[in-house]
Amino acid sequence: MFRRGKKQSKEVIENRVLKLIGQKRSDAYKQRMSFMRLGDKNPAWNFINPHIKTIHRRFRNKYGKAVLCGHCGSTVNVEWSNKNHAYDFVRKDWRQLCRSCHNKYDYDKNKRTKPYSKKG
Ligand SMILES: [Zn+2]
Repeated sequence: MFRRGKKQSKEVIENRVLKLIGQKRSDAYKQRMSFMRLGDKNPAWNFINPHIKTIHRRFRNKYGKAVLCGHCGSTVNVEWSNKNHAYDFVRKDWRQLCRSCHNKYDYDKNKRTKPYSKKG
């Protein structure tokens, strides 16, 4: 077994790798691997009612990080904002807004009851 502070020799590592080859994978392992599949390739992808944060994360993953507020020109705390709050994956329906402008915009649309928390 692996002992802390002691480096494993090449032979030991190779033997372990050889043992692993041809080894049957358990169902739990397969399940774990399936969850490592990203995005909509993942069977656990939630199509029906994803959380708003999930939508924003997916959009960011697809179109990259928002960097420039289209309203005030700020470059800090910039996030993607969905114009019509339909949250379709249509690029033109989204724009980059800093957190402050995003808050105001959403607040005007009555989509937010309280200011965006710093944690979110
Ligand atoms: Zn702004």
